[in-house]
Amino acid sequence: MPQSSNFPDPNWGAQPAGAFAPTPDFTETELDSALAEANLPILLGSLALLTGDDQWVLEPYLPTAPTDLGDHDSGGFDEATAARIRENAREVLLRWQSGELTAPTDPPTPERIAAILSVMLAEPIGPEYGPLLAEEMGLAPRHTEPEQASTTPFHVVIIGAGISGLAMAVRLGQAGIDYTIVDKNDSVGGTWHENIYPGCGVDTPSYLYALSFDPKPDWSGYFAPQSELNAYWNELAARHGVDEHARFSTKVHVASYDEAASSWTVTIGPADGDEPTETLTADVVVSAVGLLNQPSVPKIPGLDEFTGPALHTARWDDSIRLEGKRVAVIGTGASAMQFVPASAEVADQVTVFQRTPQWAMPHPLKGESVDDAKHFLNAHVPFYVAWYRSRLFWRMGDKVWKLLQVDPDYPHLGRAVNKANDRLRAHLTAYIEHELAEYPDLLDKSVPDYPPYGKRLLIDAGWFRTLTRDNVDLVTDGIETVTSTGVRTTDGVEHEADVLVLATGFKAVDVLASIEVKGRDGRDLHETWGEGDGRAYLGITVPGFPNFFCLYGPNTNTGHGGTVIAGTEMQVQHVTSLISSMIDRRLASVEVREDVHDAYNTELDEAMASTVWDFGGTTTYYRNDRGRIVTNSPWRYVDYWSRVHEPNEADFIVTEKTPISAQTP
Ligand code: NAP
Repeated sequence: MPQSSNFPDPNWGAQPAGAFAPTPDFTETELDSALAEANLPILLGSLALLTGDDQWVLEPYLPTAPTDLGDHDSGGFDEATAARIRENAREVLLRWQSGELTAPTDPPTPERIAAILSVMLAEPIGPEYGPLLAEEMGLAPRHTEPEQASTTPFHVVIIGAGISGLAMAVRLGQAGIDYTIVDKNDSVGGTWHENIYPGCGVDTPSYLYALSFDPKPDWSGYFAPQSELNAYWNELAARHGVDEHARFSTKVHVASYDEAASSWTVTIGPADGDEPTETLTADVVVSAVGLLNQPSVPKIPGLDEFTGPALHTARWDDSIRLEGKRVAVIGTGASAMQFVPASAEVADQVTVFQRTPQWAMPHPLKGESVDDAKHFLNAHVPFYVAWYRSRLFWRMGDKVWKLLQVDPDYPHLGRAVNKANDRLRAHLTAYIEHELAEYPDLLDKSVPDYPPYGKRLLIDAGWFRTLTRDNVDLVTDGIETVTSTGVRTTDGVEHEADVLVLATGFKAVDVLASIEVKGRDGRDLHETWGEGDGRAYLGITVPGFPNFFCLYGPNTNTGHGGTVIAGTEMQVQHVTSLISSMIDRRLASVEVREDVHDAYNTELDEAMASTVWDFGGTTTYYRNDRGRIVTNSPWRYVDYWSRVHEPNEADFIVTEKTPISAQTP
C-alpha cells in the first residue's frame, strides 16, 4: 500500500484548488475591529504557526481553560495582556499582508500542533493527536493519489450523494479517478436534503460539520439550520464538479460482483420505479447510503386510522401548516428536540408523548449567530478557522470518550458508569432542575434514570423551557392506540390532535438496508450479516465482497461525540489509498482476509463490552434485537485513525490483473 509520512508536501497548508484559503485583502480598520472580538487563545495559536515562533504559546501568553462549552474568547487574560496580544497580532498580520512575512517553509511537527492545542485549552493533549489534528486542520494531506490515474481506465460507482458520498466523490475527483455517483434524491445532501422538518438543524457545532479540506468560514450560526447545511453540500458539489458525475433521481437495485471480470455490475432505474432500466459497470463500488435514513415507523395500533396528516419527521411535507393546529408528537430524541420547540412557537397545542426522557446539555452558543468579526478572522487570519475547528474536534470528541467507559468498581454503577459520568449526571440533573424549578410535575418526568450517554447526549435546543409553555403538554402514560382524532393513552385519556408527527427515529441497525449487494458466488450481504447484525473490518470491508467499500458502515458511528464527518474522511482516505494501490499496481481485486475481519470484530466487541451502551439500562437505536451494538464505534477517534489511516497490505487478499500479453485472444 502507498506509504505516506505526515508532512510529505512542502506546500503544507495548501488547500486543493477551489477550496477555502485565508486571504490578505483587508483594511487596517477592518483588522482592528475584528481583533477586538478575536478569540485570544486561537489568535496566539495562529501567530505561533504563522511566525514559527513559540513565544506566543509560552508565558505570559498561557490562557486559562474554558469553564463551559463556550469559546472562552478572553482566554482568561487580564486587559493589559489582551491588549498586547491584539497589538502583536495586528503587527504580524500586517507584515503578512505586505508580504514581508511568510509562513515557515517547514511545516509544524505533529507534536508541536498537539502541544500548541494543549496550551490553547490549558489541558493535556497527547502527542499521538498531532498527526490527526494536522489532518483535521487541513495542514497535512489526508489524501492519496495514484500516479497512474490518467493512464489506467478505472471506474468507481458511489451509491449515495450525502456527506460520505460527496466526500468520496471530491477525493476521487481530486485524484483524477473516474466515478459515477448515484442518488435516489434529485440533488446532493442526503440527510440534509431529506430532513426539512420545522426546527431542523445540526446539533454538532457548524464549524465541525464541514469537510476538513474545504471548510466554510462564514456559518451564520454556531449550530447551522438545515437550509444552510444543505446549501454547503450543494455548493461543495458544484465547486468540485460532482454534479457532472451524478445520476440523480436514480435508485440502485442490485450491485453484483463478477468474479471473472473482477468488477461490479450495478443495476439502476428511476427512483420512483420498481424495475432497473440500466446497468453500470465498476471496478469498485462504494456504499455511502448513510445510517439514519430509513424511518422507523412504530407498530402502534390505529396508526392508519388517524384522519389528519400523519408523518415522520424525516418525511416532512412542507405544505403542512402547523399554525393554529393541535399537534401530537411521538418521540423525544434528537429530531423531537428540534421539532417540538419550533412547532410550539406556531401551533395552538403541542402534545409530546415521551417514552424515555433524554439527557440534554446546555450550550452557551446554541441559538447564537456568528458575528462578522469572527467571519473576518476566519477568512483572513491564517490558521484561525483551523484552530477553531481543532479545538472543537478535541473538546466535543475524544475529550469526553472516558465518560462512556464503564468502571466495574464504581460504587454507583447504574445511575452512572464511572465517577466522571456521575459528575456529568449531577451537572445535567442540576440543569434540568434549574430549568423546571417551578414545575415539579414536569421535573419528575424529565430526569432520566439511565447514565448520560446511554442514549445519544443531546444539546438542549430549548426543550425544557418549551415544556413549560401553556400550549405544550408532556404525556408519559403509554400509548394505547392512535384513533381517528388523536392518541389514546393507557390511562384512558383521549388526546385530540389535528396533525400526528412521528419523531420515532430510524432503522439504524439495518445497515445498508436500502441496497441489495451480491458478492463472490452470489452471496448476499444481508444474509451474510444476518438481520440487523452488520459487521465489517474497520467498518469498511467485508470478506467475500472484493472491491466493495462501506462508508459510515457497521460500528463507525462515533457515539461519544465529535462529528460523523471526521470518521467519514478517515474512511475515505482508507478507500482512496486502496483504490490508488489497485490502479498503480494493476490489482484486479482487494478483499479483506476473513481472519483479519474476525479478529477485528472480536476486539471491537471486547472494547464495546466496557462502554455505556453495552452496559444497558435503556433502549437505543444503536442496539439490535440480540443486544449487540451495531452502529457505534467503541474507539477514540485517534485509535480509529491509527487503524484506518494507512491500509496494511497484509490485511487483504489481492489479485493482480492478467497482463495483456498473457490474455488469450
Ligand atoms: P431517536 O433518537 O431514535 O428517537 C426516537 C424517539 O422515538 C425516542 O424518544 C423513542 O423512545 C421514541 N419512540 C420510538 N418508538 C416509539 C414507540 N413505539 N412509542 C413511543 N415512543 C417511541 O430518533 P431521532 O430523534 O430521529 O434521532 C436519531 C438520530 O438522528 C440522532 O441520534 C442523531 O444521530 C440524528 N439526528 C441528528 C440531528 C442533528 O441535529 N445533528 C437531528 C436529528 C437527528 P425511546 O427513547 O423510549 O426509545
